[in-house]
Amino acid sequence: MEFSSSVLFDVIQHLPFQNDDTKNVNSDSNHKRIAYVEQCFGASGEKLTRPGRVLVGEGVLTKMCRKKPKPRQFFLFNDILVYGNIIISKKRYNKQHIIPLDDVKLEDIEDDKNLRNGWKILSPMKSFIVYAATSSEKSEWMAHIRKCVSYLIKKRGIEQKPDLNCPVWVPDSDASECMLCKKSVFSVINRRHHCRKCGIVVCNPCSSSKLLLPQQSSKPQRVCNNCYQACENNSSAATSPTDIYCPTNDDGDSSADDSSDDDNDDEDEKNTFLDSAINANYHDQQVQFYEQEAM
Ligand SMILES: [Zn+2]
Ligand SMILES: [Zn+2]
Repeated sequence: MEFSSSVLFDVIQHLPFQNDDTKNVNSDSNHKRIAYVEQCFGASGEKLTRPGRVLVGEGVLTKMCRKKPKPRQFFLFNDILVYGNIIISKKRYNKQHIIPLDDVKLEDIEDDKNLRNGWKILSPMKSFIVYAATSSEKSEWMAHIRKCVSYLIKKRGIEQKPDLNCPVWVPDSDASECMLCKKSVFSVINRRHHCRKCGIVVCNPCSSSKLLLPQQSSKPQRVCNNCYQACENNSSAATSPTDIYCPTNDDGDSSADDSSDDDNDDEDEKNTFLDSAINANYHDQQVQFYEQEAM
């Protein structure tokens, strides 16, 4: 099955958010679309079919990764945002990531010389910046995501948790030296590390401690000395210092720089032709939304 449409934002008149989603949830085209996404991820992905789930739209966005911006295929469902690396355009994806929409927040970012039409996707589990090919695609994406989030939290009768967002990582290229001590210059030997609490790039001595950040991982995570100190101060004021871990020597990820602790979606793909998608000229069906929200 191909989603063959040369028209961007080919919005069809299904109303997924009306009448308990029944119309779209049970629609044959919705089932087929979701099954096709599952098939494209193959064994590397999770089962995406679930009662009540609607695929709202999909398209290519350029995701700011650690080393550079890279094209990723995004799928917006009414309860999750899924993305993955593109192996074969519209046919094969891997490195699937699933972000629950409950606590997703969006934040606009200003255009820069080279990177335009971007915004932040913030969540407790993962936060990053994406760029759309055009400003209208950006508006469409942001509007659809926001509608899904607000509908979801209304439907579940919950409120978004404030300020538990995972930080957006500072790209490697933005830091030639440690952002904390400002002395340590990075090299092949002196590797960069990212603080999991604030996202800055720091040297090993400036990130010798770990904290438990349960929303990100069940294991203690590397943090910069500032964040560690702040947390220690906080918890000595409070009663339960449960999420403090003593400074450690670089256990666990010693051999490593951050490549072991890096996002696994950040690895370079073999098919370099995809880099062309980084340029904003990748207009061939960048995105398609299937549903028109009624709200
Ligand atoms: Zn340092
Ligand atoms: Zn920090």
